[in-house]
Amino acid sequence: MIENIKEVILCKYGEVVLKGANRGDFEKKMLKELRLRSRRIGNFNVFYSQSTIYIEPMDDEAIERIDEMYWHAKHVFGFVGVSRAYTCKKDMAEILEVVRTLMPERLRPYKTFKVEAKRSDKRFPLTSPEISNEVGGCVLSSVRGIKVDVHNPEVVLRVEIREKEAFIHAGQEKGAGGIPYGSSGRGLLLLSGGIDSPVAGFMMAKRGVQLEAIHFESFPYTSERAREKVLELAKILTDYTLRIRVHIVSLTKIQELIRDNCDEDYFTLLLRRYMMAISVKLAHQYDCEAIITGESLGQVASQTMKAINVTNVLSDIPIYRPLIGMDKEEIISVSRKIGAFETSVLPYEDCCTVFTPRHPRTRPELESVLAEENKLDFDALVEEAYSTRQIVVVKHFGDNKNEEI
Ligand code: ATP
Ligand code: MG
Repeated sequence: MIENIKEVILCKYGEVVLKGANRGDFEKKMLKELRLRSRRIGNFNVFYSQSTIYIEPMDDEAIERIDEMYWHAKHVFGFVGVSRAYTCKKDMAEILEVVRTLMPERLRPYKTFKVEAKRSDKRFPLTSPEISNEVGGCVLSSVRGIKVDVHNPEVVLRVEIREKEAFIHAGQEKGAGGIPYGSSGRGLLLLSGGIDSPVAGFMMAKRGVQLEAIHFESFPYTSERAREKVLELAKILTDYTLRIRVHIVSLTKIQELIRDNCDEDYFTLLLRRYMMAISVKLAHQYDCEAIITGESLGQVASQTMKAINVTNVLSDIPIYRPLIGMDKEEIISVSRKIGAFETSVLPYEDCCTVFTPRHPRTRPELESVLAEENKLDFDALVEEAYSTRQIVVVKHFGDNKNEEI
């Protein structure tokens, strides 16, 4: 039996390699993200070498928890591929021993394979094609039924002769993609309990936006359970972001005043303008450079071009709507992928669905909306709702924490 054989996780960069002068900053962020996670799991050494980040377990407990670490590696933005590799001495006999004893388990699900060998250590006595040949032969004799297909293999077995050791791995999985979390600045996500807004948050987080979240509720018209559902959705997003601060704003008083004083056809539009005004205020206070919503063009009456414009004009910072051109089916497939769907479809009321108009305006003119809005003291109500908000910090590791405003 071979000694000193170890299992490590390899994380391969995506578009970060194209980043020229900023590449170093991006790499640092990705390392930091992995280290924040690895520290919570066990004693892992996380280091960079040759466009790859390595995660190496340093004691028995870490070895035991490598599955968990692997899950985390797949949730860090910036990596296109993640795989589990065995390392051994740079010695052909040892390499073949690893292939014979440990790789069959990895290769058995596949019918065809090819070997790709790479030598960054040119002093290694065999050339890359020679390594591929020997390793390929070894696979054919130890995995029954598998065949070589050099053009379109189901799996690639990679042998890399690196500076200190040899790495052997197969079945690289997709990483989370995107660019490192936080590398694009901060954005404020309007998070409801629906399907769309968690997906919107995920998509912007993937493009490096650090998320701050705001949720509007209307207790007792919306329930405690509805709030818990939203916090659960935020928790699901922390698979990728580790933590998210959620500001919870009550719209009860505003909604009752709108109901009692304004034309029913405008209820939703007025409410959405309050939501936007409060969000803009919060975005400024928390240095968010954009607001993010889950709006998709034409999905509902308040998401026609004209209706979106009624809220859009209130913001002096950009509003990102990553779902604007997506169909519901496409949105649902992302929602399932990030594990949010089951929670999103739990049937609790959202403040947008209480006091809904029977005939909402789909082509509203701003002047008519303003005429209705002016029946109330908009600014004072915005200020009051804003200053009575609650803050919950949702964490991936550990329990939620309330924060003072
Ligand atoms: P979702 O599935 O995200 O709830 P939706 O299709 O139900 O979206 P709307 O209710 O019109 O659409 O909301 C559009 C967007 O406005 C949401 O994606 C979200 O960004 C924001 N939003 C709606 N309701 C709330 C809320 N209660 N708190 C915070 N943001 C909200
Ligand atoms: Mg909604």
